Amino acid sequence: MQELRVTVSPWPGGKRWVYSITFDEALSDLHRFAIPILDEFRVPGHLEVVVGQMGQVRKIGASSYNGFKHMGPDELREMLARGWGVGNHSWSHEATNAQTADLELGRAKEVLEEAIGEPITIYCSSGDNSNMNDGALAACRRFGYLGAMSLTDALNRPEDADLLWINRTFLHTQGYAPFYSEFDPFRNIPHARRDRGWIIDYLHCPLEQPVHPNKDCSAAQLRERIETVRAEGGEDLWAARVEEAVDYRYTRRAAKIEAVPGRAGEFTVAVPGLHPAVRKRTVTLELPEGTRAADVDGRRVEIVKRGPLLLIDVDLSRPRTLRISGDQGVAQ
Ligand SMILES: [Zn+2]
Repeated sequence: MQELRVTVSPWPGGKRWVYSITFDEALSDLHRFAIPILDEFRVPGHLEVVVGQMGQVRKIGASSYNGFKHMGPDELREMLARGWGVGNHSWSHEATNAQTADLELGRAKEVLEEAIGEPITIYCSSGDNSNMNDGALAACRRFGYLGAMSLTDALNRPEDADLLWINRTFLHTQGYAPFYSEFDPFRNIPHARRDRGWIIDYLHCPLEQPVHPNKDCSAAQLRERIETVRAEGGEDLWAARVEEAVDYRYTRRAAKIEAVPGRAGEFTVAVPGLHPAVRKRTVTLELPEGTRAADVDGRRVEIVKRGPLLLIDVDLSRPRTLRISGDQGVAQ
């Protein structure tokens, strides 16, 4: 009899690739264009909050966004209710490192959690990747963050070794020097589809015209990008809140599936040592070909067919016993 293999699907529901979009500075003017466009296409966004200026008119160095208003606690809570997520974009938008981490990562996390009534598990580097230094990332681990978002234009992949380092793709009218990359509504999509990748777009606050061509796109370009993501993604796409995709990666990585000796078709499924900050612990399991029925802790669960895949969702908040039966080597 062939060995039966049960595996955790790279993404929920056997989806092929993942898309998220992040708005640094969490400006109230997102209500003008970005929020309605994302609502229309049912794509959740993610807000990166400068905690020391929450609810205030922006005044940070020579920022292109000075004079714009940051969302305050009530506005952020309203966005959570719409299914968006919130991350810490540091306290001051200045240097985050071993010396400043208590304020920029520790105190900022506490204040933001209190303001929005939800745990903060995502840090978003301000400025550039210099705030992804070793001291900052060590402090992220110490303060219990699950993800740290960079400005590296690359995919995130299901097998990534460092779950804390997250890549983001610029969604701007023009890329940075020296390439000045043209706006591309298809950026990274075929690559994500091939590699089962997770694209996270990065911008600030799209308006009629971009506030700065190397920091934003226009509202029309945002619409074109989101339309393209939906059209190209179809049923293969998971449009995810950043926190949920991060939780899934952690849970999948921690999952242990072990055959119960002497009991054909029976497995224990658990996530020993999973980081306590992971909230959503449901994974999709891929069952062997020929499986006809599946029980979790003695209860029949519905098997979903997706192409050749046979899938079930299992909440691993506690260890489970899985029993499968069918033909082609599966216990009758
Ligand atoms: Zn910023």
